Amino acid sequence: MKIKSIVAIALALMSFASVQPASAALKVVTTTADLGALAKEVGGDKVQVDSFAKGYQDPHFVEPKPSFILKLHSADLLIAVGRELEIGWLPPLIQQSRNSKIQPGSDGYLDASLQAAILELPTGQVTRAMGDVHPLGNPHYWMDPENGKRVAKEIADKLSQFRPNDKAFFQQKLTDFNAKLDAAEKGWLAQMAPYKGTKVVTYHRSFPNFAERFGLDIVGYVEPKPGIPPSPQHTLDLITDMKRLNVKIVLVEPYFDLKTPNSIGRDTGAQVLVMPPSVGGVKEITDYFKLFDYDINLFLEAMKKVGATK
Ligand SMILES: [Zn+2]
Repeated sequence: MKIKSIVAIALALMSFASVQPASAALKVVTTTADLGALAKEVGGDKVQVDSFAKGYQDPHFVEPKPSFILKLHSADLLIAVGRELEIGWLPPLIQQSRNSKIQPGSDGYLDASLQAAILELPTGQVTRAMGDVHPLGNPHYWMDPENGKRVAKEIADKLSQFRPNDKAFFQQKLTDFNAKLDAAEKGWLAQMAPYKGTKVVTYHRSFPNFAERFGLDIVGYVEPKPGIPPSPQHTLDLITDMKRLNVKIVLVEPYFDLKTPNSIGRDTGAQVLVMPPSVGGVKEITDYFKLFDYDINLFLEAMKKVGATK
């Protein structure tokens, strides 16, 4: 049976079973595990959260599944990263969900980027020239805890709008989250402070917000442009730059081939670190706090190896 007919039958069955008491948990669907983690922080047991992209998958290129359409069909709220991160896979799923509540522009569609600080905003005409997958600024903004707070507030406000009687609950969860994150961020900043200005190279442009917050200096990328695989000439130029600037760290997202990064590492003596930019990127990263715990610890351990002891 074709996927479409399976989905159609399932949707028909679900319409019989969709009557729920008003107090049932709000059904929240998020495109990424990071947004899911933030929704759980502020929603607590009053939300049921499902996320599509796993933390070890490239969020630009997610393989659509029939189960995604079913989740969207019964969702009260869809939260997306925005900035066209999901443009390659989400729009057809929303359309096929037959759920008017979560269409872009509806109350049940939340673009999480709207209040976030966005880096690498384009100047002049916006194009996808040469396959650039970041045409509207950098969409990996959740890698700064300050943006995590902004997104959490957006979600808490949206949940309060849906469930006015639970507003105090959501706002208290937000207050608790902010306090916990403030304390954690203070610790992360202190740990990273000795390495301020450390030059690094990253595979994809997933880490500009992280680098800006924690004082790293990204001097190059393994990809010639976001979404474009490495080319021999670009790699040679990058190696030359890394040697000139004495770059000893290469950060690679878990979903990229390590062949080119490893050859760059051999040529330059740099440490190649597989650094997850998302919750669930490795099994230890079970929430938004552990994402920074893990990545910062990974970086600090590598700095010890390259001899930059402080
Ligand atoms: Zn990207």
